[in-house]
Amino acid sequence: MFAATILTLFPSMFPGPLGFSLAGEALERGLWSLETRDIRAHGLGRHRVVDDTPAGGGPGMVMRADIVAASLDAALARDDPRQRLLMSPRGAPFTQAQAREWAAGPGLVILCPRFEGVDERIIEARGLIEVSIGDYVLSGGEIAALAVLDACVRLIPGVMGKEESGADESFEAGLLEYPHFTRPREWEGRAIPEALLSGDHARVAAWRRAEAERITRERRPDLLACLIQPCFPYRTGDAN
Ligand code: SAH
Repeated sequence: MFAATILTLFPSMFPGPLGFSLAGEALERGLWSLETRDIRAHGLGRHRVVDDTPAGGGPGMVMRADIVAASLDAALARDDPRQRLLMSPRGAPFTQAQAREWAAGPGLVILCPRFEGVDERIIEARGLIEVSIGDYVLSGGEIAALAVLDACVRLIPGVMGKEESGADESFEAGLLEYPHFTRPREWEGRAIPEALLSGDHARVAAWRRAEAERITRERRPDLLACLIQPCFPYRTGDAN
């Protein structure tokens, strides 16, 4: 089973949005588990201090390696097979392919720093993998961890029904998804594209494919490069 362990200064931020809908129901059904660890429990002194000023000077505070290590070591068994992530804008960009891989594994341990980040030495010392959710700066790792977990949890077998297996979704085939429509057939003078109402499955599929390609070409031509030279190990047909 996919087990998530979160190390944070704000444990009450979890499960947060993951307590609702698909992820929340799956958590209740035991399809995945969530454990939060308060890093401050390992803080120093009466005030449970976890950070200090940056060596070399400059603004902000840095989380101490010894405190974070104590928190990690207390949370994990020596033979814990899960990857240990460090949320960081410097990290490898998080992708759908990565979500698929992690969703199929034993789970994740996610360290959520605050302030300027953590003392660099912890990364090598505890084999942390730096992961970014995009090219912008958040004020802490918690929202990034929630995003990574949400993307993984919905792919755990049994979380989504067969109907909504996600196989067609954006990025799964290296394309952005085609547009969706539902009733009413006409709304504010706008009609549903005729191909979708034809009842002809091949025609619907061809329309969707063409639209997915058009939208990807317009918005994310970088993804099309992956179609010629596959960037993802996953194809539509592989998804369950
Ligand atoms: N000084 C750092 C930013 C610190 S932001 C820098 O310039 O790189 C505080 C924390 O928020 C980070 O340590 C990280 O855990 C989290 N964070 C901020 N932006 C993020 C992003 N794009 N992806 C993942 N985590 C992020």
